[in-house]
Amino acid sequence: MHDTLPLLEQIPFPAIRRGRLDTLQINVGYRCNQSCVHCHVGASPHRTEEMSGAVADVVLEFIERKRIATLDITGGAPELNAHFRRLVIAARDRGVRVMDRCNLTIFEVEGQESLPEFLAGQQVEIVASMPCYLEDNVDRQRGKGVFDASIRGLQRLNALGYGRDDTGLVLNLVYNPQGPSLPPPQAALEADYKRVLGDHYGIAFNRLYTLANMPIQRFGSMLVSKGEFDSYLDLLRHAHLDANLDGVMCRNLISVDWRGLVYDCDFNQMLDLPLTRGANQRVHLSELLDDDIVGNPIRVAGHCFGCTAGQGSSCGGALKEAAE
Ligand code: SF4
Ligand code: SF4
Repeated sequence: MHDTLPLLEQIPFPAIRRGRLDTLQINVGYRCNQSCVHCHVGASPHRTEEMSGAVADVVLEFIERKRIATLDITGGAPELNAHFRRLVIAARDRGVRVMDRCNLTIFEVEGQESLPEFLAGQQVEIVASMPCYLEDNVDRQRGKGVFDASIRGLQRLNALGYGRDDTGLVLNLVYNPQGPSLPPPQAALEADYKRVLGDHYGIAFNRLYTLANMPIQRFGSMLVSKGEFDSYLDLLRHAHLDANLDGVMCRNLISVDWRGLVYDCDFNQMLDLPLTRGANQRVHLSELLDDDIVGNPIRVAGHCFGCTAGQGSSCGGALKEAAE
């Protein structure tokens, strides 16, 4: 696989600094039941990296001490981590909003049959990848049979009350383009998704998040192989809006890897660009228990244009719905 970091580091990006920390995003491991073409994590069933119980304990201590409002759990398939349910229960007991980045097909993996009921019982917000409402496109990007399994997963969640305004059980979907293009306007695409998934499959959901593909990991490598890396970076750079700099997720979030090491965001984690603190080039979450990182400079490079191009992209989708 081509490493895109040396290319991205040559591309200047405006300097940005951290604001108040409200979200802790933890990557609890790279193992996944799928191995999607565009996965920015490079996750697959063969990856073995997994957050330990000791690191999970540090996560919970950090949440408590820093009064973190949101715990965003990602992977791989985060639910495959042995400590996933313990983390969810402990965080919810502390009144923390918990988000699970769920691939929907995980519900059909042996041993995960009770997962939807568990998530509903804990009132976990589900953020689910659904790169298209057309079967061919989803199966091409995520693997054969993934579309049908995802539909079954959404229907199970709906049956539990997910995706309806009156239940408080939030189900949001994530869209990313099939190729090296910017995502279409979020509100219009959300309306299309609601119409097609509702009419054809009786599925309801709350919001659709549109995200640009990051030129890193498998997608970045594919761009290099096809000779499309420079043109995609040009596309992102030309669509950059300074106004989006205030809303990038790294201002209020830190990303923690399976070892407990800290990054400014999940993308930086995948590029192995750690958060730095003074002379400390690699910071463990346990070192931040008594530290305040407001104002700390954020590690930026060319991939950051993926967050500021056009309507912008964050873990909550487009930054500027007004741009729609
Ligand atoms: S389901 Fe998500 S984590 Fe798993 S391979 Fe696909 S994109 Fe990566
Ligand atoms: S990729 Fe996006 S979230 Fe990550 S550091 Fe760059 S601007 Fe921030």
